Amino acid sequence: MRCPNCRSKNIGIIGPEQYYCWDCYIELSVQNNMMHLHEVEMDGTLSSLDDLFSDEERRVEG
Ligand SMILES: [Zn+2]
Repeated sequence: MRCPNCRSKNIGIIGPEQYYCWDCYIELSVQNNMMHLHEVEMDGTLSSLDDLFSDEERRVEG
């Protein structure tokens, strides 16, 4: 699995189907083989980054 944002493989697991990219500090969750990306704002809320990526980029390969 590779971060669609920075292409890093430095992905940590933080929960079931939940991952964190240590290089660009975004959260990734996987549902139905699609990644959903979230950025943690300064106030602790999550904002979705899905719109920044195509379906192709967010697809989880095998
Ligand atoms: Zn990243």
